[in-house]
Amino acid sequence: MKRTGTALCLALAFASPALAEAFLLSPPIDCDLTGDCYIQQYVDSDPSPEASDFTCSTLSYDGHKGTDFALSSRSDMARNIRVLASAAGRVKGVRDGMDDVQYFTAQSGKIAGRECGNGVVIDHGNGWETQYCHLKKGSVIVKPGQKLWQGQELGFVGHSGKAAFPHLHFSVRKDGKVVDPFDPDGVTTCATPGDSNLWQDRPEYRPGGLIDAGFAQAIPKFDDIKAGTVDLQTLPADAPALVIWGYLFGSQPGDVMKLSITGPQGLVIADDVTLTKTQAQSFRAIGKKRRTKPWPTGRYDGVVILTRGADVLSRQAMTLAVR
Ligand SMILES: [Zn+2]
Repeated sequence: MKRTGTALCLALAFASPALAEAFLLSPPIDCDLTGDCYIQQYVDSDPSPEASDFTCSTLSYDGHKGTDFALSSRSDMARNIRVLASAAGRVKGVRDGMDDVQYFTAQSGKIAGRECGNGVVIDHGNGWETQYCHLKKGSVIVKPGQKLWQGQELGFVGHSGKAAFPHLHFSVRKDGKVVDPFDPDGVTTCATPGDSNLWQDRPEYRPGGLIDAGFAQAIPKFDDIKAGTVDLQTLPADAPALVIWGYLFGSQPGDVMKLSITGPQGLVIADDVTLTKTQAQSFRAIGKKRRTKPWPTGRYDGVVILTRGADVLSRQAMTLAVR
């Protein structure tokens, strides 16, 4: 009788709802979320026309149904950053063949019903589903019905479908309903964000920060920064101007970007720029025009620091050679 009792007890333990429901996610993208990529937007947890991420902050937009893992620039797509199955399962659907292009509202009719772009949907059983959107054209390597292991490669991060920048849109659904993997039970309060989540290892929440920073010869165009083509390493001594820029995500009014350039003969320029808007992405730049004499040749150090109140959100340092 005693043995039977123990066996019964074990059987019950294994059948407990907690175990049957266990569904945990690994990263859907193969990149460093504190370095070469970042989370731009989370699931909108606010049912009103306003938007809020799971921490009650601004990294979302109205009706957003997934988590956006963004690359630093369009040129980063060439690095073929892998999209990975977040859990084991079976491929439910795939699409490929759509171009990687910047989305403009005018094209909404052209891609209606295909907003996800090149993508994959995986069925994990028990009503769980994950979806991966905006993959790079020609990169999807899985087929419908294929069995997948957790972490298996699906394709590369791209810019297809309704995407304003290159990123992976990652959606989780249970019985057809959107689930925020950072707040699966939907009961997070602003005081305790992330107290429950679906991640094996929850990605750190970055409330905003620098995406990139660099030098330029003139105030750069925002589109060139987003393309990743403003990346000056050397500058001729007769260049007309010396500029430093910082590209950031998740700005809030009152954030301060501190920019400075120090050259072989000391400080060239330094300024603190106060940001005035809540914006998904923006950039700031300061610079100095050359007077009559050429720039002293040698090494120039640039530093860009983004602060919010007393907190340093990001810091990036780089060097430039003037010849
Ligand atoms: Zn998205």
